[in-house]
Amino acid sequence: MAILVLGGAGYIGSHTVYELIDAGRDVVVADNLITGFRKAVHPKARFYEVDIRDKKAMDALFEKEHIEGVIHFAASSQVGESMVDPLKYYDNNLWGTISLLESMVEHGVDKIVFSSTAATYGEPERMPILEYDRTQPTNCYGETKLAMEKMMSWTSRAHGLRYVALRYFNACGAHASGEIGEAHDPETHLIPVILQVPNGQREKISVFGEDYPTKDGTCVRDYIHVTDLAQAHILALDYLIKGGENNVFNLGNGVGFTVKEVIDVARKVTGHAIPAEICPRRAGDPAQLVASSDKAKTVLGWKPQFNDLETIVSSAWAWHKAHPHGFEG
Ligand code: UDP
Repeated sequence: MAILVLGGAGYIGSHTVYELIDAGRDVVVADNLITGFRKAVHPKARFYEVDIRDKKAMDALFEKEHIEGVIHFAASSQVGESMVDPLKYYDNNLWGTISLLESMVEHGVDKIVFSSTAATYGEPERMPILEYDRTQPTNCYGETKLAMEKMMSWTSRAHGLRYVALRYFNACGAHASGEIGEAHDPETHLIPVILQVPNGQREKISVFGEDYPTKDGTCVRDYIHVTDLAQAHILALDYLIKGGENNVFNLGNGVGFTVKEVIDVARKVTGHAIPAEICPRRAGDPAQLVASSDKAKTVLGWKPQFNDLETIVSSAWAWHKAHPHGFEG
């Protein structure tokens, strides 16, 4: 039986497909290639160019392939964009998941692991964040991901679906093979945007806000390597296959770095001065997000391998230096 990876041509999806194939699993990838790249799909995965909102096409896929479980990455994922175009997020993230779950229920596929986010918490009440802490998103992206979690929960009650929601903190880094890495167009995430400076693609990095209540006034985030995230998806899927109940897990390193600290690490790794300019805050950004991932470690047996920011930024730099135009050059 195969594992269906939706959004398997995207950043975290493609890395998860690589780990699944390395672990000897049979993998089917579906992706509409709007933000994903065909070249990011592992050559051993069977690829379908399908939009999850296209129920007929998804039904046909479930009829053709023998799917044991689904890993669902297919969603829009930019905080800033979600604030100016919220309905795009409702359409792609919520409508897409409704259509997907209908198709899964109709075809008797009852296990799903899906990408949720630290943005479901909003401005946290305490640090590090635990899974049962208050969820009150401050941006539309987080709101739609929280609604997806609830949709899974109600579908589970009604139809016996079982799910694991993985709330990622800040995904970064690239695959050790050098074959795949982060590539968004436009790029908005901090580490790849910083690395565009030493790559000669931008003159300076804009720091969004220096007046947050943090040690240097810039936002604090928990940066976690994409391969560690990928491994957590496999563990979560196996947990469901072994009969595990519905669950939610944080995935982070448990250590927070400010935007300025990340820029300093990138200066050290690249040997470039990387000029920075202080700009206004970006809408929707909470001041601090740092995870407690103890639950994923205890229940899933997750062991993140890359817990040092310098190693993570070095792996991202190796990819971006070799692929300044991502998968397109
Ligand atoms: N950030 C920044 N300049 C940039 C991109 C991001 O200062 O060009 C900040 C952003 O405001 C946030 C942190 O870096 O505090 C991480 O942002 P990113 O978009 O990478 O991830 P998010 O936390 O939104 O998921």
